[in-house]
Amino acid sequence: MHTLEQLLAPLGLADWRHGDTWPAAIISGQAHYPPTQSNALSSPIDQAGHGMLLTASQSDSEHAIHAASQAFAQWRCVPSPLRGELVRRIAVLVRERKQALATLITLESGKIGSEAAGEVQEWIDICDFAVGLSRQLYGQTIASERPSHRLMEQWLPLGPVGVISAFNFPVAVWAWNAMLALVCGDTVIWKPSAQTPLTALAASRVVLDAIADFPAAPVGLISVLQGDADIGQQLAGDRRLPLISATGSVRMGRAVAQTVAARLGRSLLELGGNNAAIVTPSADLDLALRGIVFGAAGTCGQRCTTLRRLIVHESIADALTTRLINAYASLKIGDPRDPAVLVGPLINQRALTAMQHALASAVAQGGHTLYGGENVSEQVPAGGSYVRPAIVSMLAQSAIVREETFAPILYLLRYSHLDEAIALQNAVPQGLSSAIFTTDLREMEAFIGPAGSDCGIANVNAGTSGAEIGGAFGGEKDTGGGRESGSDSWKAYMRRSTNTINYGSGLPLAQGVQF
Ligand code: NAD
Repeated sequence: MHTLEQLLAPLGLADWRHGDTWPAAIISGQAHYPPTQSNALSSPIDQAGHGMLLTASQSDSEHAIHAASQAFAQWRCVPSPLRGELVRRIAVLVRERKQALATLITLESGKIGSEAAGEVQEWIDICDFAVGLSRQLYGQTIASERPSHRLMEQWLPLGPVGVISAFNFPVAVWAWNAMLALVCGDTVIWKPSAQTPLTALAASRVVLDAIADFPAAPVGLISVLQGDADIGQQLAGDRRLPLISATGSVRMGRAVAQTVAARLGRSLLELGGNNAAIVTPSADLDLALRGIVFGAAGTCGQRCTTLRRLIVHESIADALTTRLINAYASLKIGDPRDPAVLVGPLINQRALTAMQHALASAVAQGGHTLYGGENVSEQVPAGGSYVRPAIVSMLAQSAIVREETFAPILYLLRYSHLDEAIALQNAVPQGLSSAIFTTDLREMEAFIGPAGSDCGIANVNAGTSGAEIGGAFGGEKDTGGGRESGSDSWKAYMRRSTNTINYGSGLPLAQGVQF
């Protein structure tokens, strides 16, 4: 079993630890240790102590925003393929440190080794994507109505970007933002979750090591501010940050969006989901079963794309439920460093309490627990907050089912007609991910078409979680409407400039206006 001590050297973290204290901020490559309050860090696996973390002060935030603004003035003029070369070098270092980074993610977030390695792989993948993108930041040339005129648009660097991230993807979400922002010519200030601060330090160390060998890159390109909502709010309220990209709960998104809107800034929101899968009578149940179990119980139910609602046709509901219960019974729960374990701990005791309250509410609202839901912390040698993933049958989509409880609870609902299933799937405030399991072409098209799923992600014969980086990631309604990662998400990190160029000797006005 790995410990934090074994990771300090391969991740280059040893210099930043003073005694047992970790810095509140990394700004221009320097660690800051302000005389602020510090919080004890511990692993959700077994409560092993990871030292004390200082919280960034107001002056650290000010300093970071100033450094990011100065670095932006320089970085925006570096040709974007050269900016891509920095990201290519970052990817080389991430590949070298993949195992150590994954182990740290497991220690801090509790996710199993394979999923942690997958998260680092997302960073590598988005680097590769961003390197290619660095030669493709193209705008359009549009036919002008005026003689000897050219009408065109360019995409130009936007400015320093504030990134606020959640605990459950402690590196991938930042990497999606930061790697694209870097090739787009922006600088990045990161406020990670207070529950996963060391992963943020290790990730920023990778970038700083790449910058050290790359004279075109100013050292203020990236910074980290450790802390809670108040630091996030400081970033959200600062006019010098034209874009705030925030990932987390709907509650956080509302607070951030309001602060950013008050100064007419731009926010990119990636908020909670309440994801459903529909299983139709024609579905390949072997395939569906695997997608459902990974989606619902993987990451101990702590993905924004976790499958939370299963809407099953009444003709196959009993058979599928039996198979699902058997599959759940085979899941090994425990220390995520054990390669046989598939379900690790919840992030903390608060999450366990929230799960128990949700289960009690579900029963009070007519539900029936078919499997799991128990607190099994006592049976696991480790000592964190461990639960048995729950399956709960519901008569209706009651209030608790419409909420996102960030824990492994799968609510089962039955349907008779596909229209009814799609209506149930859409009748929640969130709109992140969705799936249908079917071999019927008409059902598939109905689900992904204009009257189908209202989510940002609508999959067919693939579960709700585990997106690839090549597609745009994000969701509608309370999920916030943002899109990150692949496709043309990069446009959020740039400003569009429309240019009219008159290369003639007259000055014809548009729309034939005479003046
Ligand atoms: P959270 O909302 O508690 O915290 C997320 C981040 O926001 C943290 O860095 C936190 O310090 C900061 N924050 C909290 N309140 C803030 C405020 N008022 N102003 C500014 N910053 C604030 O979320 P969490 O518990 O870390 O993560 C779980 C949630 O994140 C779930 O709802 C999950 O669905 C969501 N999530 C969404 C996505 C997505 O891409 N849609 C990805 C991962 C997680």
